[in-house]
Amino acid sequence: VSESRFLAISEITSTPPAEVEIPKPLSEIWACDVFNLSTMEECLSKNAFKAMKKTVQTGAPLGAATADVVAAAMKDWAMKKGAKFFSHIFYPMTNATAEKHDGFIVTNADGNAITEFTGSLLIKGEPDGSSFPNGSLRMTNAARGYTAWDPTSPAYIMHTANGATLMIPSVFMSWTGEALDKKIPLLRSNAAMNSAAQKVLALMGETDITTLNSSCGAEQEYFLIDENFANSRPDLLLAGRTLFGAAPAKGQQFDDHYFGAIPERVQVFMQDFEDQLYRLGIPAKTHHNEVAPGQFEIAPYFEAANVAADHQQLLMTVMKNTAKKHGFLALLHEKPFAGVNGSGKHVNWSVGNSTQGNLLDPGNTPEKNLNFLLFCGAVIRGVHLFGPLLRAVIASAANDHRLGANEAPPAILSVYLGDQLEKVFMDIKEGNLSPTECGGDMDLGLSQILTFKRDPGDRNRTSPFAFTGNRFEFRAVGSSQSVSGPLVAMNTILADSLEWVASKLEARLADGLEQTAAVIAVLKELMDEHSNVIFGGDGYSSEWHKAAVEQRGLKNIPTTADALPAFLDPAVEALFNSTKVLSPKELKSRYEVYAEQYILSIEVEAKLVIDMATTAIYPATMSYLTELTDSLSAASALGLEANKDVASKIVTESNSMMATVSELSAAIANHDFDSTEIHMQHCASTIRDLMDKVREHADTLEGYVANKVWPYPKYSEMLFIK
Ligand code: ADP
Ligand code: MG
Repeated sequence: VSESRFLAISEITSTPPAEVEIPKPLSEIWACDVFNLSTMEECLSKNAFKAMKKTVQTGAPLGAATADVVAAAMKDWAMKKGAKFFSHIFYPMTNATAEKHDGFIVTNADGNAITEFTGSLLIKGEPDGSSFPNGSLRMTNAARGYTAWDPTSPAYIMHTANGATLMIPSVFMSWTGEALDKKIPLLRSNAAMNSAAQKVLALMGETDITTLNSSCGAEQEYFLIDENFANSRPDLLLAGRTLFGAAPAKGQQFDDHYFGAIPERVQVFMQDFEDQLYRLGIPAKTHHNEVAPGQFEIAPYFEAANVAADHQQLLMTVMKNTAKKHGFLALLHEKPFAGVNGSGKHVNWSVGNSTQGNLLDPGNTPEKNLNFLLFCGAVIRGVHLFGPLLRAVIASAANDHRLGANEAPPAILSVYLGDQLEKVFMDIKEGNLSPTECGGDMDLGLSQILTFKRDPGDRNRTSPFAFTGNRFEFRAVGSSQSVSGPLVAMNTILADSLEWVASKLEARLADGLEQTAAVIAVLKELMDEHSNVIFGGDGYSSEWHKAAVEQRGLKNIPTTADALPAFLDPAVEALFNSTKVLSPKELKSRYEVYAEQYILSIEVEAKLVIDMATTAIYPATMSYLTELTDSLSAASALGLEANKDVASKIVTESNSMMATVSELSAAIANHDFDSTEIHMQHCASTIRDLMDKVREHADTLEGYVANKVWPYPKYSEMLFIK
């Protein structure tokens, strides 16, 4: 095996960057593979286009006749681009996507091939859903699951080397209509947020209120590792992270990688990757090196949440495929290398519409700022009430390695507002702006609030949930995760809080308070209950970990095993039920699916640890020990005194390693638990601890065993050779 390590290095260092075509201008490739509104305008009749546009923009249902017209146009368009197949693409309760391809082909009585694509094929598909996780929402013997076209997310063409497929974004549900996917709750959460926001805006005297939608812009971090290395690391291939590997002499301590010059080979990859995103209508906007060696970031421009969520999934797929083409393995795992910064996904989120604009943007006029303060306050309330839920939607075995490890936000949910805005909310709380004093006109303090302007310079990298001028940034999301879960949670807690705001506001106005005074009164009540969640200090510090829990009553939830039970909390059940985002049954199914995924992923890693230690690390160590003892005997045969320290260290460490491997084997054989919660805790503590112990011994051995026989590519090689 060790030979392959050296072959890999010579292979990599002698290969020039992949040849790529001269880039085409943006105007030529932008959204050229997307069946979007402008494509539809060209190929649909005026009436059909008008109906489609209304559906896309407001979610209004589409008549069967129009669906037939749209399907025919879609097929013609796709076939001109080389597509012979189409597929509904859907988003099961994993972080992956699923698709089932069908041909346009049908044969007629004469045996000739003709093509067909009707409105009903466009609208509804019926994949055999039994192999997708459903958390007892669907028995295997009633395995029928349906996919249904989501016209609000545009269809597109996926090209491969010798083919093309028309992809149709869809929802996925059971035959009883229960959501089996991540898209249905997202659409429902948007609707819930819209309806609550409408109430608040109406009470604020707004008259022209169009449909509100949430927006999302996700910053995606990832690592690139040469495939030659990755292929000889079963842990990277099967678990997406290294389960062994001693820290290299040079890590990220020089801070020389962040925003550093991008290596040529990576630059070539990025341009190819981004051109493909442009063809798919994904607005890639920034890219740069990240903190760790071999780590990079890409951030598209923000879009409507539903479209952004589909695009995020597509971006991850295109990234992996393009990396492969360039001889890289793209690692989206949250912590691929121990001791080196991990990867996150910052989910930037705001809500707005075409008439009132972005409601999380302070804006320039007093009226806009009152709306802003209400929406911002509603977010604060939601995060305070449902912090554990926000922790649960970002929970995964992989993300547990990052959260709270001083490189990513802590596992305590707090809100950062920035100095200026924090002062505004605190002043309201302290009654420094007493509503009775305002008496309709603005006093000095109040006018300061009402003309509050955003300060985009204000940043806090240690906060999990930060206001950044005109949006909130959920910074604790994991790099491999779908953004849908976090978006559903944010939209839903906002919907719930806006309902609360609307009812309070209505009561204050009914009491005869003037608008500004009523708003301040509602916000004061909100702050009296929820100001504890606002924190502008260092989220990494140990003082905060103590104070957050002891003084503020916030929860520190370190592992997925501790986090997922939030889905079973009656208050969370009531939240999702009252907003009609998830029924209690649908919510419970999420808990079951995510818990099972957690347990399975830890078990897979544990099996890999056992296998790699037993079949590669131990044998390499023993063969080196033989070599070493041979030299030691040769020396003593010559009457020389030889130093036996290394040999004895190797013996102790490898004995301990194999003893721990046995313990780990016994630990994963145990499947007899009274509840899923106890099983998760077993994974979080016993199994994870034993895996870490095996690793510690193996990493120590790496420092003693001769470099030439070490079986796996080392950290220094994987991180620095490109
Ligand atoms: P930074 O690294 O400073 O946080 P980036 O430019 O890397 O900023 O990413 C910011 C992300 O936030 C981008 O995806 C951007 O499009 C998105 N964004 C900007 N404004 C909004 C908004 N109003 N709502 C949602 N996302 C937004
Ligand atoms: Mg950011």
